[in-house]
Amino acid sequence: MVRAQISMVMVLDKCIGCHTCSLTCKHVWTNREGQEYAWWNNVETRPGVGYPRKWEDQERYGGGWMLKDGKLRLRIELKKYKPPSKEDYYEPFTYNYENLFTDQLQDQQPSADPLSMYSNEPIDVQWGPNFDDDLAGGDLTIPADPNWKGMEMAMYKEFKNVFMFYLPRICNHCLNPSCLTACPRKSIYKRPEDGIVLIDQNRCRGYRLCVQACPYKKVYYNWKTGRSEKCILCFPRIEQGQPPVCALTCVGKIRYVGVVLYDEERVLEAAKAPEQELVRAQRDIILDPFDPEVIRRAKEDGVPENFIKAAQESPVYYMFKKWEIALPLHPEFRTLPMVFYVPPLNPVITVLDRRGKYSADYEGVIPTIDKLRIPIRYLANMFAAGNEDEVRKSLKRLLAIREYFRLIEVEGQSKAEAARVLANNGLPPEDVELMYKWLAHGRDRFVIPTAKKELRLRMPRRKKQAAAAGG
Ligand code: SF4
Ligand code: SF4
Repeated sequence: MVRAQISMVMVLDKCIGCHTCSLTCKHVWTNREGQEYAWWNNVETRPGVGYPRKWEDQERYGGGWMLKDGKLRLRIELKKYKPPSKEDYYEPFTYNYENLFTDQLQDQQPSADPLSMYSNEPIDVQWGPNFDDDLAGGDLTIPADPNWKGMEMAMYKEFKNVFMFYLPRICNHCLNPSCLTACPRKSIYKRPEDGIVLIDQNRCRGYRLCVQACPYKKVYYNWKTGRSEKCILCFPRIEQGQPPVCALTCVGKIRYVGVVLYDEERVLEAAKAPEQELVRAQRDIILDPFDPEVIRRAKEDGVPENFIKAAQESPVYYMFKKWEIALPLHPEFRTLPMVFYVPPLNPVITVLDRRGKYSADYEGVIPTIDKLRIPIRYLANMFAAGNEDEVRKSLKRLLAIREYFRLIEVEGQSKAEAARVLANNGLPPEDVELMYKWLAHGRDRFVIPTAKKELRLRMPRRKKQAAAAGG
């Protein structure tokens, strides 16, 4: 069965860590009692531990799926894990601004000390959603980052090896969501028409198994209503053809929103792929929206014309499937996340030797990927379940795009001559205008079809038993 999914790509080189996305999301959706600590969108610094603290460590939290004897099982079934505590999140606080006006005259400036948003009492803030922002407190948080797996952390201590980048995160609206399967009340559902994962607030009883089962820790319990809540991908906006607020307000224009068509019957097969092949398996189930057979099947399965057209113009389709430059975050959790990341190259540096020539170390103006500062292994641990080839391919292609334009703009080569660097790296030269429009300018980065009210599709529910039985 052909399904449509609204997805997002984030180009990490362009994120400036301004947190505008987090704040606009907060103001629209979670600026209310019970959700003070909830950040449906948050931005983390890597290396670091993120929010809640060390969410990537499933040995600690037990989120996502594990593959045992060829079958998928929810990790939380092992019953040895605990959900994040208040210490892993934080006690939300505001500041005593009133003191700025009412304090007694004294030698120092008056200060606005932190006050708990729960008790309104002064608190000693020890942790929060951004405590390791820009590597702050790095001596504690950098070594605790789970993405060093298989690497010598000591290399980071040399100045020439130091690196940092931002990782914005929302719910991934996964194709195989562990939050959904874990819910005993069947309150979580994936919308068949666009794949958005939602929690029915009338059914939810706040058991919080979804909080534990989501490996990205993107479900938050609302202590006021006694229900769980999560990112809704701004579905009321999406239905009108508008981008989610985080994407609309993104200062760096790093977010691209579009539709992809996928093969629903092959989702579990992809989720069960060997670890090193998870990215390829996820790509395989994304369908070519230009293929007449796919179009025929999509129409038969109720995918509206405007969704098929949007899939043909989708930046997500091009970046994840066709150009293979975007990658899923932690595919080894096996939820098939549908927010993708173009890994960062930064910084692209060129070094001149003492004679003013390009250093032989860097092989010219455009460095080779092994000379970039962020270790390939680190990125592979984050975006490809350790498969370095997937990261190398993406980074090489990103460098090829830069080289193509440099050859034309600086070296004066013709487009036809320069196109060989794209072709040599597996990029279709005929897509170069699209690459330029999206990656360089960020124009037309939202291709969102309006919803069809009359659509009534049903999504097969993957029961715990069915998944466990391999079905
Ligand atoms: S990211 Fe978490 S909350 Fe969102 S769909 Fe996936 S498993 Fe569910
Ligand atoms: S608004 Fe955009 S650039 Fe700023 S932190 Fe968020 S994702 Fe990054």
